[in-house]
Amino acid sequence: MHEGSRDCYDRALSVLPGGVNSSVRAIRPYPEFVAGGEGGHVVDVDGNRYVDHVLGYGPLLLGHTLPEPVRAAIHEALEAGPMYGMPTEVEVDLASFVVDHVPSVEQVRFVNSGTEATVSAVRLARGFTGRRKVIVMQGGYHGANDTTLVEGDLDGVAPSSAGVLPGAVEHTIPVPFNDPAAVEAAFEAHGDDVAAVLTEPVLANVGIVEPAEGYLERLRRLCDEHGALLVFDEVITGFRVGGLAGAQGAYGVTPDLTTFGKVVGGGFPVGALGGRVDVMESLTPVGDVFQSGTFSGHPVTMAAGLATLEYAEREGVYGHLADLGDQLRSGLRDLVADRAPTYTVVGRDSLFKVVFTRERGVRSVADVERAQRERWDRLFRPAMRDRGVLLPPNMHESQFLCDAHTEADVETTLAAYDAAL
Ligand SMILES: *Cc1c(COP(=O)(O)O)cnc(C)c1O
Repeated sequence: MHEGSRDCYDRALSVLPGGVNSSVRAIRPYPEFVAGGEGGHVVDVDGNRYVDHVLGYGPLLLGHTLPEPVRAAIHEALEAGPMYGMPTEVEVDLASFVVDHVPSVEQVRFVNSGTEATVSAVRLARGFTGRRKVIVMQGGYHGANDTTLVEGDLDGVAPSSAGVLPGAVEHTIPVPFNDPAAVEAAFEAHGDDVAAVLTEPVLANVGIVEPAEGYLERLRRLCDEHGALLVFDEVITGFRVGGLAGAQGAYGVTPDLTTFGKVVGGGFPVGALGGRVDVMESLTPVGDVFQSGTFSGHPVTMAAGLATLEYAEREGVYGHLADLGDQLRSGLRDLVADRAPTYTVVGRDSLFKVVFTRERGVRSVADVERAQRERWDRLFRPAMRDRGVLLPPNMHESQFLCDAHTEADVETTLAAYDAAL
């Protein structure tokens, strides 16, 4: 029964373009409209209950039912008034937490979305270095950022969206992820004009592609040799992969700048950039790279983010998530070996996905692009939903586990895969 969702979407289509406020939500024929969440589950407006692996596309590390200390921190901030446009202590507390736990970060600037973080990081890298070029990964995602909405390669680029001027991407150089020779060629062609290499350390927006052995180290070395900044977009991986240290901790590679979002706001709108003091102090008001925001460092968000991360540290959340993740991925590998031997199970910690590859293995974005996306979107996802497991609408989006998920939820998810694969 999905009449309620259908009716909501019918109304939505009149007043919201595509019926949604973020394009990825426009699932065909219509999305599930959510009434509420509980633990690791969501319930739609028709009363259907699902194991939720969307989890807000990543922010909900703890799930839908916030633990008491997190609720208390949010309520306290709310009681004091929503926001002020003046500094509050909780911003300093959350910044200190990030600085204490993420290896490369000495200072932080909070913003309001991952998009804003990557826009600011690109401007900062260009302002700090006085250079123009930004090397990005083909198929990589950094939010609705004009500089990175790009298609092409070293020999030619074009905007990947209408409304983005060719001039906005003129100095963006897309290269294939996990292909060191391609980055080397970009540096060879433009070395003294490269401001930054910007990449997710694990591509988590395109089926999940892990870095090949030595690849991130190679990027680090090339940036050092050419005086460019290495910028890790950890909007998804931050405080999810590698626990509180992020993917940079897990892989042992230290960027100059890092962007955050999602988990660090505890479920409220957030973004952040952090890095070396000399780079960060190029931002206004110390330096001359403009950056500002009415809602930045929002006290309710800061309180939610800080309480979430403190809870995660105190309660061993990352250990629980890694165990559940291993259990789930290992169950999926058994199922895939049995039923769809060309498919590939990817992910680590609380990220997972089965990519419907045509040959076993995900080493590059090309392997994901060639996979059976139509089968995934049109047949597999609806079949999972009908068995009570909610996945994001397409094969490119990462799937998540949260602290509230249980072994029983993992069993439910595995049984649904067993039936739907
Ligand atoms: C989600 C995401 C963004 C954009 O964040 P928003 O808060 O949606 O603007 C940027 N980079 C990565 C890697 C993301 O996953």
